[in-house]
Amino acid sequence: MSIFKKIFGGGDGKENDPGLMDIIKQAKEMQAAFQDQTKQDWSQMSNSEMMAAATQNIEMLTGQKAEARTAFVKKTTCHTCGGAKTLPTKTAYVYCDFCGSLTDYDFQKACENPQSAMPGPAYEELVRQTNADAQLARQTKDRDKFFAIQERLYDRWVELCPNAVSPRAKKDPEYRAQLVKYMATSATVNEFDAQYQELAAKVNEQVRGIQWEGMFPRVTAKSETFWPMFDTVIAQLDHSFAVLKDQGVIDMHPDQAPQSLQRRMAISMFCQGWLPTLQEADSEKMIEKTGLKGEYSKLEPTETDLRHCGGCGGDLNAMKGGKKMVCEDCGTVVDIEHPEVNCINCAGLISFPAGKNRVQCPYCLAEAQRQAW
Ligand SMILES: [Zn+2]
Ligand SMILES: [Zn+2]
Ligand SMILES: [Zn+2]
Repeated sequence: MSIFKKIFGGGDGKENDPGLMDIIKQAKEMQAAFQDQTKQDWSQMSNSEMMAAATQNIEMLTGQKAEARTAFVKKTTCHTCGGAKTLPTKTAYVYCDFCGSLTDYDFQKACENPQSAMPGPAYEELVRQTNADAQLARQTKDRDKFFAIQERLYDRWVELCPNAVSPRAKKDPEYRAQLVKYMATSATVNEFDAQYQELAAKVNEQVRGIQWEGMFPRVTAKSETFWPMFDTVIAQLDHSFAVLKDQGVIDMHPDQAPQSLQRRMAISMFCQGWLPTLQEADSEKMIEKTGLKGEYSKLEPTETDLRHCGGCGGDLNAMKGGKKMVCEDCGTVVDIEHPEVNCINCAGLISFPAGKNRVQCPYCLAEAQRQAW
């Protein structure tokens, strides 16, 4: 998800929604404008069509079909424990098999289920409702008020688009609150940073200056009008990260993700939004330049232990020698170091959430307790 409001050229200070929504809306508007220009009779692409095009585009670039990709795992080494990622992931958020740290963000996976970032009319209504207040907070330089509005918006967004954020936000209220706080703080810092706003204005101008060519369904941005905008977006991103680092916001990330990883997650949003509108050579160049291409290795058969998630009761394949892992279905960080425990009520086997000695049994809902060692 995007952590920066408008970072990728969305709006001109009048709207509140996070970057990705802006980008998609913008790309759609551009295509509509192109349609007017050329008076061609083709219907405007829906968001899902655009995102499907993005997925196809990525398949072309990587030479892998969506089905085949499940046989690959992104090459990643854990920055916390040094473990190599071995088990397949279901989401774009790559958590370490050994310690449960967030270690990477898989751009291809993010593009497989792109609609998950679209919150729909309920969210847009909230944006409309809060627009006037946000505008007022902006004019009166009321940071606290602006932050409170952002917090509401991001909280709703996380609720409506659970697949756009880490699965850990699903069942862990503390994680979710920290994530919302981190995103709302980033947005507020950017909002009241003069240089950031200058760069945002420049991005907007450059987006408006993009020229379109081609025929439906492949209408693309002209290279020479896209790349100057891209460069400004990168400058804006780098400036933003320097300020966020300075103000301690980078350290607020709920997964304690390293700065380079946070940056990659942010840039990924921009790329997802723009991929469907680029020519193949530009798409490739963008993915290369942003470091999103990544290396993938074929999944090797691995000996794992069957575990049962203490959060949802689902089966987990746990790495031998692992200490903690994230259940990708419910987001619980599960202790895989200690043996499983039978629920005293239903006798079901449970691997406890890390750091917890009591849990509501996912099978019978009675309280289950960890045995004393
Ligand atoms: Zn690790
Ligand atoms: Zn689970
Ligand atoms: Zn039970």
